[in-house]
Amino acid sequence: MRFEYFGTNWLKEGFIFPSLSDYIADTKERLRQPLSVPAYATAGEAERIQRFSQLTQDNPYLQRASFAEAVRQEGENWENLRAVPYGEYPELYSVCIFSSKMLTGIQPIIFLYTAKTLGMLYNACALDYQDKVWIYISDQLFKEHGMLKAEELCYLVGHELGHTQCHHATIRSTTSYGSDKEYSADRAGMIVCAKWMLTHIPGCQPQYAAQLAALYGTATLLKLEVATANGPDKTDWRTAIDYEKLQRDMDNVFDGAAKLSVSTGSHPYTRHRIMAMINFSQSQMLYRCLGLNPNDYPGLCSDEHLQRLMSYQLTNQ
Ligand SMILES: [Zn+2]
Repeated sequence: MRFEYFGTNWLKEGFIFPSLSDYIADTKERLRQPLSVPAYATAGEAERIQRFSQLTQDNPYLQRASFAEAVRQEGENWENLRAVPYGEYPELYSVCIFSSKMLTGIQPIIFLYTAKTLGMLYNACALDYQDKVWIYISDQLFKEHGMLKAEELCYLVGHELGHTQCHHATIRSTTSYGSDKEYSADRAGMIVCAKWMLTHIPGCQPQYAAQLAALYGTATLLKLEVATANGPDKTDWRTAIDYEKLQRDMDNVFDGAAKLSVSTGSHPYTRHRIMAMINFSQSQMLYRCLGLNPNDYPGLCSDEHLQRLMSYQLTNQ
C-alpha cells in the first residue's frame, strides 16, 4: 500500500534533519549578519544601525529581546487583532503589497486592530523579525469614510515599513533615539507615495510626484492630528483639508510664517517633519530611491547638502 503525504515531496532519499544544536548555531549565525542600511537613511540613522550591528556580533539574541519587548509594548495598546482579508480592504491590501515591494521586499502579514488608547487610534505600526514583517493598522482609519486617499495610505504604510527597514523594532529597547528616526520613516513613506503616483497616474512626471509626495505626507500628518484632536467620527473628511491652501502653507514653512500644528512625545515637531519632507522631495537621494538617475534632473540637492540642511534647519525646536 502506498501513502501520499502532502508537503513531503522535498523529503528525498538521504535527507536528514539538522540537529537542534546545528539549528541553533545556524540561527545565531544569521542573527550575527550585519544589518542592512536603507538607501534613504539619515546620516545619524545609518550610524546607529551600524553601531547596533556591532552589538549583535557579541549578542545575537539582542534583536529577539528587542522584538519581544516591542510586541509586548504595542500589544498593550490594541485589541481585536485580525488578519485583513483581501476582499474586504482591496485598496489597503494593494497599498501594503506595493509598499513592501518598494521597500523591504518581504510580503507582509497585515492586521487591523481596535485601539485601546487614543495614541493608537489614528495610527499604524509595523514589526519585523528575521525574514518576517507584520503591519498593524487601526480600524478607525477605515471607519471614517474618505479619511485617507490611496496616496496617503501609501505614505502611512511606507512610513511604518520604513521603521522596520531601519530596524527600529529590533533596536528600540537597547539604544535611545533622537527624533530623527521619524525623519527616516517619513522618507520611506514619501518614496512609496511618489512611486505609487508614477505607477498609477498616466504621464506623471517625477518632479510632480516628488512634490505631491511631500504634500500628501504633510496632509497625512495633519489629518491624523486633526482626527485625534476632534475625537472619533467628528471630522468631515470631504472638507477637512484644503490641499491648495496646504501647499501654500508649505511654501511658507521655512520662514515660520505658516502656523502648522505641532505634535508631542517621541515625534518631532510636525513643522520640522514637513521641512524635512520638502527638502527630501528636492533631493538626489529620493530620485535614486525611485530608481531614477538624478543627473537627468538638474537642481536637486546632493546627499551632503541634504544632510547639512537637516542639521541646520531641524535643530532649533
Ligand atoms: Zn513613526
